Amino acid sequence: MKNNTTTMSGKPFHTLPIPSIFHSDKSNQPFTECKVCQKDIIRSGEPYIIEKAYGQDLTKGRREVVFELAYCMDCVQQINESLSQESRDKIQAYFKENTDIDKRDQELKKYELFETDIWLQNCIVKNKSMDEVDEFQIYALCIGNDILFHQAPYMVCGDAIDEVMELLSNKSLDILNDLMSDILDLPPNYDELLKRPTPLIF
Ligand SMILES: [Zn+2]
Repeated sequence: MKNNTTTMSGKPFHTLPIPSIFHSDKSNQPFTECKVCQKDIIRSGEPYIIEKAYGQDLTKGRREVVFELAYCMDCVQQINESLSQESRDKIQAYFKENTDIDKRDQELKKYELFETDIWLQNCIVKNKSMDEVDEFQIYALCIGNDILFHQAPYMVCGDAIDEVMELLSNKSLDILNDLMSDILDLPPNYDELLKRPTPLIF
């Protein structure tokens, strides 16, 4: 398997071809465009984010993708800026207090553990494993056809997502809900909270 490095902002990052867990479950293909502005994220050569949320389908009793999307950095920034400053500060403080993503980064890099499964195995906030939780979201930072190992990829479990949502003002929640209902086809039968995106910590 191809396994190399790429540079972003002058820093080298370890990369791999994007693994299938970060492909679209809907199309069984890699994501090719920003879900918000439709930019061609492969051709642009710019970094972008893939986000997938998993939950239990209450009628089928099994875990499935609730929503999935790729977004370009311009849109990530715009979404973040649409939230109130107070909400953004609270989210930042929450992740700063409850995760040590830089230390994790150093450890994984020290032992050259560049495998997506390892990076996704435990929630970065609660440390619970993917097998222990019903709901979780996964994030990847990508360029072109490659995933970058830098802070991401990571997993956040449903309990942590609930806590983040509680930090948001009603206005910020409304903005996120409106945005998501515009761009995502959400299935019924899922917990309401999981229909909202987790604001990104990038
Ligand atoms: Zn975009």
